[in-house]
Amino acid sequence: SKSDGKNRITFFDSSIAEKVAKKNNIAEAVNDAILNQEFYLNFMPIFKDSGKTLVGAESLIRSSSEKLKGIGPDIFIPIAEEYGMIHTIDLLVITETFKKISEIQHSLPDEFVFSINFSAKELRNESFPEELKSLSDSFKITPSLIELEITETSLVSHDTFTIKLLNEIKSYGFRISLDDFGTGYTAFSQLKLYPVDTLKIDRSFVWDIDAGSDAQDDKIMVDVILSLASLFQVKVVAEGVENQTQLDYLARSQCDYYQGYLLSKPLHWEVFKSTYFRDSEK
Ligand code: C2E
Ligand code: CA
Ligand code: CA
Ligand code: CA
Repeated sequence: SKSDGKNRITFFDSSIAEKVAKKNNIAEAVNDAILNQEFYLNFMPIFKDSGKTLVGAESLIRSSSEKLKGIGPDIFIPIAEEYGMIHTIDLLVITETFKKISEIQHSLPDEFVFSINFSAKELRNESFPEELKSLSDSFKITPSLIELEITETSLVSHDTFTIKLLNEIKSYGFRISLDDFGTGYTAFSQLKLYPVDTLKIDRSFVWDIDAGSDAQDDKIMVDVILSLASLFQVKVVAEGVENQTQLDYLARSQCDYYQGYLLSKPLHWEVFKSTYFRDSEK
């Protein structure tokens, strides 16, 4: 009936209003956390040789704010983007990562890499490459130690502005990786337009590798990405490795690097440092 329809609309409206209110609250909490310096980083180790050798770490943002309790970066980062706060957060994460690296830079093994996530919004910000360069200069960080992770879905086809920007970042010596690879639509022919060093296989594809399953379609995305990577001579990180079946399959398939709860959870800096760089105190 007509009144049913009206009720439904009213219900729907109020649920949208609730969502907006909730988003506003989170945005306000993010703003407060910036002002109160309630963001910090965890470092998630990345390994090679079937998980035996540490080769790097990804910095992941965390908040100690009461108001953001239980709300992870997958929720608050998109809201920070929408409310115009992401540039502040990106600079905060980059600065904090550089500060931490400077504590151990001299004891890092060759080819160690720290990965940093940054917003696709920076791909429209022409001063971003220089900001990055001047921050690494001021903390005396060797740019080749840094890999910037950009999600594959944020790339727009044949976007000359972004290609130029990424090339400028590369020209300073930083590395570039495509995050959540396989979830976007980067055509093979386009991949070579982007100056990419590494592909990160999205964890959903790694989770498709099931124990005891012979089904080829479980593994097909992983296989496609690995062949693509060898064709373009880029490295591959498999993310979300949670069990031995997944690790064994990836190792047999010549995947370069692994990251996941099987090997290590994200760690507080002090724990990361004392676990892997015990004798490196300045
Ligand atoms: P991401 O860049 O894909 O980061 C990997 C996420 O997968 C992390 O979640 C990590 O803890 C999780 N993960 C890795 N291995 C496993 C596993 O084996 N099992 C499970 N269950 N999870 C695993 P986290 O830290 O919650 O980050 C979520 C997303 O938030 C990130 O996805 C990234 O898009 C964003 N993010 C995190 N930190 C930052 C940051 O500093 N800046 C920006 N711009 N975005 C960030
Ligand atoms: Ca990432
Ligand atoms: Ca990812
Ligand atoms: Ca499956």
